[in-house]
Amino acid sequence: MFEKVLIANRGEVALRIHRACREMGIKTVAVHSVVDANAMHVKLADEAVCIGPANAKESYLNKANIISAALMTGADAIHPGYGFLSENADFAEMVEAHGLVWIGPKPEMIRKMGDKVEARRLAKDAGLPVTPGSDEEVATVLDAIQWGEALGYPVIIKASAGGGGKGMRVVQRADDMEMAFTLAQNEARAAFGNEGVYIEKYFTNPRHIEVQILADNYGHVLHLGERDCSLQRNHQKVLEETPSPALNPEERERLGKMAVDFVQKIGYSNVGTVEFLYENGQFYFMEMNTRLQVEHPITEAVTGLDIVREQIRMAAGQTLDIRQEDLQFHGVAIECRINAEDPNTFTPCPGKIGQWHVPGGLAVRVDSGMYAGCDVPPNYDSLVAKLIVSGRTRNGALMRLKRALGEFVIEGIQTTIPLHQAITESPDFIDGQYDIHWLEEFIKNRKA
Ligand code: ADP
Repeated sequence: MFEKVLIANRGEVALRIHRACREMGIKTVAVHSVVDANAMHVKLADEAVCIGPANAKESYLNKANIISAALMTGADAIHPGYGFLSENADFAEMVEAHGLVWIGPKPEMIRKMGDKVEARRLAKDAGLPVTPGSDEEVATVLDAIQWGEALGYPVIIKASAGGGGKGMRVVQRADDMEMAFTLAQNEARAAFGNEGVYIEKYFTNPRHIEVQILADNYGHVLHLGERDCSLQRNHQKVLEETPSPALNPEERERLGKMAVDFVQKIGYSNVGTVEFLYENGQFYFMEMNTRLQVEHPITEAVTGLDIVREQIRMAAGQTLDIRQEDLQFHGVAIECRINAEDPNTFTPCPGKIGQWHVPGGLAVRVDSGMYAGCDVPPNYDSLVAKLIVSGRTRNGALMRLKRALGEFVIEGIQTTIPLHQAITESPDFIDGQYDIHWLEEFIKNRKA
């Protein structure tokens, strides 16, 4: 097992990895930018190295500085967390080239899945149903118009190298295609340095349902059930729950098998998430995320497994010692992503936190790197805390969620807690009746 792991991230995710390491007796090295010198992830780590200025490009995305920090401190391995360099195959290769272990899937697997067109091809070859769409990148407006005709409007243009909900454009009719196509290519070039785009049928009321998988280096693959991540704004997840209120046991079993089968066929290892759209009883493969996910704690809450611990063990070459048939799922878990944003306009609200009190009690978990008096810098993602609650029943989890949301005291910055409170009061959410478009409608109606 590793003696020392460098955590190439910040905030709650860096803390999450640190906690797993500590419990495994592994020393941790934090990296930080100048503005994060007093951050909690820095305070709790065994060692910390400043890797650059506030701008993420020069610090948390600075590959050379991170590798230097690992070599300087004698770390054995690097955990990238999620975001930043977690799905960067070049960085993973660089880590390995310097004799360090990359805690994640093999770089070539990250590269394959990072090309969404290639990922769709692999899924299709493995016999998975994929969202109807172009099998290749679409190079010209004429081709795009032909795909629009073939698939039937609406369609969605997506960046092949896309991620984080960026570089997607919905096209309602043929007349809009030329403009949308050009804009999508430009956006893709600006965001990902690659203008490649492809086109999919745009689903009008699907759910986003994903499967967490664990796969060791010896071909043992497990799924840890599904997460329903349909509550989204701007294609970004806001609240997640497991199990999905929409699936029946037969569908759940079919979905888990599909994900495991895919991962086995492509020879994937470490943790990953296979994402599907679900509409009218059908699943459609959308993409695979080759990293730990923000919403992994809800899966931990219902399985009792520490996913980061398993991830580190697998990266160290250990075998999974859990079998699918031994896994048990208990109850329902829900996560709210709490952002430092105006809850009505969603404008980021960085600043200095005054009072800070987080909820506690049975089956309540708060993952956060914040504390009273700390700064929320304007330079990074606006997530300040994740609230994860579980209950024996969905109603029990909901009641607990409402109770816990009401206990937060966060002064000095605005947060999206009022939005989460409004969601938990909504009859549709209480009934589990929502799709990926529901939240945006809900927000619109709330303002009206
Ligand atoms: P990213 O990697 O940027 O997160 P995804 O491919 O996972 O992109 O898509 C993000 C979200 O966009 C999905 O969760 C879903 O809400 C929406 N979306 C993606 N593809 C489609 C589609 N074909 N039809 C409808 N919504 C879609």
